[in-house]
Amino acid sequence: MDKKKILIVEDEADIRELLRYHLEREGFDVLEAGDGPAGLALARTEQPALMLLDVMLPGMDGFDVLRGLATENGPLVPVLLLTARGEEVDRVVGLTLGADDYVVKPFSVRELMLRVKAILRRQERARSGTVLRHHGIALDAERHRATVNGESLALTATEFRLLEDLLRHSGAVRTREQLLNTVWGYSFEGYARTVDTHVRRLRAKLGAAADVVETVRGVGYRLKED
Ligand code: CA
Repeated sequence: MDKKKILIVEDEADIRELLRYHLEREGFDVLEAGDGPAGLALARTEQPALMLLDVMLPGMDGFDVLRGLATENGPLVPVLLLTARGEEVDRVVGLTLGADDYVVKPFSVRELMLRVKAILRRQERARSGTVLRHHGIALDAERHRATVNGESLALTATEFRLLEDLLRHSGAVRTREQLLNTVWGYSFEGYARTVDTHVRRLRAKLGAAADVVETVRGVGYRLKED
């Protein structure tokens, strides 16, 4: 899987270095900017998963950067603000401008990492909230609802995850091993039949859409392309 990109916008080089060190240790790809305009430019071109944004920047401050990132649906990228101690008003302004959260300087690295991960988890959940559609099948992961031509399907939890995985990769072949990994959480030789069994049951329940799940001989399964 690709590493998630995190952009640090902070004028103090030692703080950037500290953040970079800890973020890289957690497996993130780190980008840095020392001022607002450079931060904005990187946010636009790189679209990082998260921006750590210092409020007190020379010239263009963190709020100006937030304003520059504004879109109809909030900031272009999620933002965690780094605010100064005692500047309560900064936090309020920042959150009003669409920042996801803030930490107060001097922050503990542990706390900062928890906030970073919490924001990324929320994003992940928000993304999985969208309804996946393909050939009459609709799957709403958040509401745990799946339908074919509007008719509800009574799927087991495993069948649901299986269908979700295939929908997320529609048109691409999914090997039995990949399906075992994402649906069952493990991959073990000899369990390939487990996948076949569940696909058979899933097809039976899909009714009119049964043939959308194609068998790719010797490899695995795929959802028929449009
Ligand atoms: Ca600063």
